[in-house]
Amino acid sequence: MAMETTSALIFTPKGIYCPSGDFYIDPWHPVERALITHGHADHARFGHRSYLSTDIAAPVIKHRLGDIVIETVPYGTKVKIGSATVSFHPAGHVPGSAQIRVEVGGEVWVVSGDYKTENDGLSDAFEPVKCHNFITECTFGLPAFRWQKQGIVFDAINAWWQENARNGRVSVLGAYGLGKAQRLLCGLDLSIGPVLTHGAVEGTNRVMRAQGIALPPTRLVTQDTDKKAQAGAIVIAPPSAIDSAWARGFRDLSTAFVSGWMGLRGVRRRRAGDRGFVMSDHADWEGLNQAILETGAENIYVTHGYTDIFSKWLIENGYHAKVIPTQFWEDIEEEGDEA
Ligand SMILES: [Zn+2]
Ligand SMILES: [Zn+2]
Repeated sequence: MAMETTSALIFTPKGIYCPSGDFYIDPWHPVERALITHGHADHARFGHRSYLSTDIAAPVIKHRLGDIVIETVPYGTKVKIGSATVSFHPAGHVPGSAQIRVEVGGEVWVVSGDYKTENDGLSDAFEPVKCHNFITECTFGLPAFRWQKQGIVFDAINAWWQENARNGRVSVLGAYGLGKAQRLLCGLDLSIGPVLTHGAVEGTNRVMRAQGIALPPTRLVTQDTDKKAQAGAIVIAPPSAIDSAWARGFRDLSTAFVSGWMGLRGVRRRRAGDRGFVMSDHADWEGLNQAILETGAENIYVTHGYTDIFSKWLIENGYHAKVIPTQFWEDIEEEGDEA
């Protein structure tokens, strides 16, 4: 196999490293220079001396990490770092999310970060980038994961909300606070009722509005909110808040989760919500395969998810495929990065 002969990027205990540019991509441990694909906690971590992200991703990264040194670059602009040429390309995952292209001496690598191939209308649409070596996530790398078009899911969510409103109930929708929550906001039928938000969601909304991302009007739930007088409203909250005293303060309420994991048999029953809607900010089985094909890459490195099964599948289909261990996979599920 030809995959070990060059080393524009290498895999180290701190994460993916570029020796020619002396930088890491989404490193797990503190480093001098970190290139960050997007703001989710398993990618943008504390403690690096300097950060580089897209201009669109930076405000949320700063909001989450506080006082950091961060430089930004627009999508598609080539930056020279040492002898490496680097550019960020839309990953379609959340606003500002990027795949990072690294070129050294004619050898091109792309680190996908998290991505989805369906255009959500909020994030810049996923852009296939040609490369020799593609490092892909495979969070949903099983054939069982096939997403419906988001319009169909939004119709189902709005129908659920409408039905609850008709019955004088509050709808409480659990969705990851960065990305998924804003995507949902943009798909809600605002003629049904008011939209309320949990603080964890509204904090991100504020950051995005301040940078010019258009989101529909929302009302933050505070201590002064009369939770017993919100019949007909929908409340967007992080998944962890669904089965909490905070949520139960609303009367009467119906709860639901929005997640790709809702597509997995058994998960709906284990979760506390009354309903589950299957929508993810990651590529499904088709999306992963399509994205990999479009890179034209011969060497595929898989990380984040069903890596063993997915790499076997790729090898059966003629790729050179290898698994990269992801140190924080356990955390990811807990945090619901699925987004
Ligand atoms: Zn993510
Ligand atoms: Zn992730």
